[in-house]
Amino acid sequence: MSFSIEILPAFNNNYAFVVSDHDLGLAMVVDPGDGEVVSRELKKRDLYPALILCTHHHPDHVGGNETLQQEYDVPVLGPAKEKALIPGISRGVEHKDVVTFSTLRGDVLETHGHTDGSVSYYFPQLKALFCGDTLFTLGCGRLIEGNSQQMWESLKLLKSLPDDTMIYCGHEYGELNAAFAVMVDKENVELRVRAAEITTLRKQGKLTVPTLLGTEKRCNPFLRADDPEFRKSLAKQRVAPEDADAAAVFGKLRSAKDRFGQKGL
Ligand code: ZN
Ligand code: FE
Repeated sequence: MSFSIEILPAFNNNYAFVVSDHDLGLAMVVDPGDGEVVSRELKKRDLYPALILCTHHHPDHVGGNETLQQEYDVPVLGPAKEKALIPGISRGVEHKDVVTFSTLRGDVLETHGHTDGSVSYYFPQLKALFCGDTLFTLGCGRLIEGNSQQMWESLKLLKSLPDDTMIYCGHEYGELNAAFAVMVDKENVELRVRAAEITTLRKQGKLTVPTLLGTEKRCNPFLRADDPEFRKSLAKQRVAPEDADAAAVFGKLRSAKDRFGQKGL
């Protein structure tokens, strides 16, 4: 059985994903914010969507559900907590639920913080994680509904996955995230290499998604709020006191990133 994962850009910087089973001509769609974009891809590749997965209720992730349902008889799964907010939803899923597509099994992971009900989908056979707006290339989602404690727990859960997991994030934020990461973690040599790689990729018009979890564990500042050396450095920079717990350090970093983003860099 051979599967492939297609990344579909939509709007300014969103990504939707199409996982296809070539033998059966079926597809699983993740976060179809723009239904037209996904529908075009399905037609081009002669695929029928068997399943739509949504990570959270924001329109740039669920806006295409009903467009696709007008054309195809396709169920939509999404976080049970956000059922009322997700158009076309057929079934709500919770932490540790299993979703299936063809011969694939995906684990539902509770990754609250960006929204109150956000979930991620982990497919061990594909070595792939679809995490919406929870984890980004060298960054993480904004705390729109949740708090720093929740988001830190979510990131810790994602950190527990194997290093060779490919992270399929919901947005192309690599370049701005890299600039912030390098600013707060100047001593991190691997991060500098990764940031340079990201600059090159973007210059060539290439994507910074997916990103490898192993690299993120070592380079993404938001995954390193519990790293003693990094925390010492953050204390020196007056980002967060050294005796603060990891969730609090994470929270301070997240606020610093919010301010950094506002500067327009
Ligand atoms: Zn969102
Ligand atoms: Fe989004």
